[in-house]
Amino acid sequence: MESVYWSGRLRRLSPYIPGEQPRDRQFIKLNTNENPYPPSPRVFEAINRAAGETIRLYPDPSCLELRETIAARYGVKPSQVFAGNGSDEILAFAFAAFFPGASAPAGTIALGTTATAGTAAPTGTMSATGTLSTTDATEILFPDITYSFYPVYADLWAVPCKTVPLDGDFVIHPEDYRIPNGGIIFPNPNAPTGRVLDTAAILSLAEWQERQGRVLIVDEAYIAFGGRTLIPHISTHPNLLLIHTLSKSASLAGLRVGFAVAQEELIEGLCRVRDSFNSYTLDRLAQAAAAAAVADAPYYEGLARRIIATRARVTVELENRGITVIPSLANFLFIRFPGLSGAAAAAALREQGILVRHFNRDRIADFLRVSIGTDEEMDMFLQECKKIVGVCL
Ligand code: PMP
Repeated sequence: MESVYWSGRLRRLSPYIPGEQPRDRQFIKLNTNENPYPPSPRVFEAINRAAGETIRLYPDPSCLELRETIAARYGVKPSQVFAGNGSDEILAFAFAAFFPGASAPAGTIALGTTATAGTAAPTGTMSATGTLSTTDATEILFPDITYSFYPVYADLWAVPCKTVPLDGDFVIHPEDYRIPNGGIIFPNPNAPTGRVLDTAAILSLAEWQERQGRVLIVDEAYIAFGGRTLIPHISTHPNLLLIHTLSKSASLAGLRVGFAVAQEELIEGLCRVRDSFNSYTLDRLAQAAAAAAVADAPYYEGLARRIIATRARVTVELENRGITVIPSLANFLFIRFPGLSGAAAAAALREQGILVRHFNRDRIADFLRVSIGTDEEMDMFLQECKKIVGVCL
């Protein structure tokens, strides 16, 4: 559909398409990386406490109590924490706050286009890993295979961008990003691959970026499942912005809370965007529930251990069946069936009541992203995988 009432910019947008949330049939949902276990009981107590007469009052626009709880848990100051309505909202704010936008000089990439390093202007020079460098310092960089919301935000805010190819094993090479740029963003672990990057390599890239006067955003949405957060390093890296979500590790995808941690000047930048958009992004119930979740670290560390153990078991069982599994430190696996397209494998699983995520995109069309569910759910998934492999061998 298109409407005469739509602005030109709106017409050119290709919005993000979230994974299916079925309403009719009962599915085993392994398609949107939700946590299969319930939130801490303290979350419900907090919601009950907050659901009182005070709901007639606006919530605290600064989310101070939640920020204090996050700060205490991670050993930073409340002024170094920003809370938002899901990490997607924080990502959107960050693109607007820190990346050069539509005012970029003429000659840079226009709204709605994403170049790929390696196919861009032929005047550049090749890096050790084959990435083309250009001298254009306004394009932001992110991997060619990554969270598919990044190009959407870039379009929305008219931020010129360029993708940097992962290698053949889906590994990010931080040295490929050492080209003049308008900013860098990637998830660690990366999505949808699950591959993690080494802390020292990211910090060294952050230092390089600092010398360029540019920001490095690391989206740590999946860091709780075996990776190491960079939060302890924000004190020495003024250009490093870390974004977390309570959707996965805290079993609160339905609540919509995320947070960012960085030095005050970056946090203040996010506040400026929020306060030019919607002062009250988190309601009273969400603020109270999120604070209760963050305060119950032992409960959630237990959940993460269970998910990690299931991930290890499922990885081995899939590999034993000849299915390729990319090593993952996230709450999902990126897998490929032998001799079968990703679309066909996803359809076969759906037929049996199991939803997984398939991205019909270059390089990864044969892969599926499978969230780690309960052991029982994963046993059913493995059963079906066995049948699919039996058919295609
Ligand atoms: N970053 C990455 C890499 C993700 O996969 C997701 C989940 N789709 C998000 C951010 C957003 O999470 P949320 O908005 O639920 O906090």
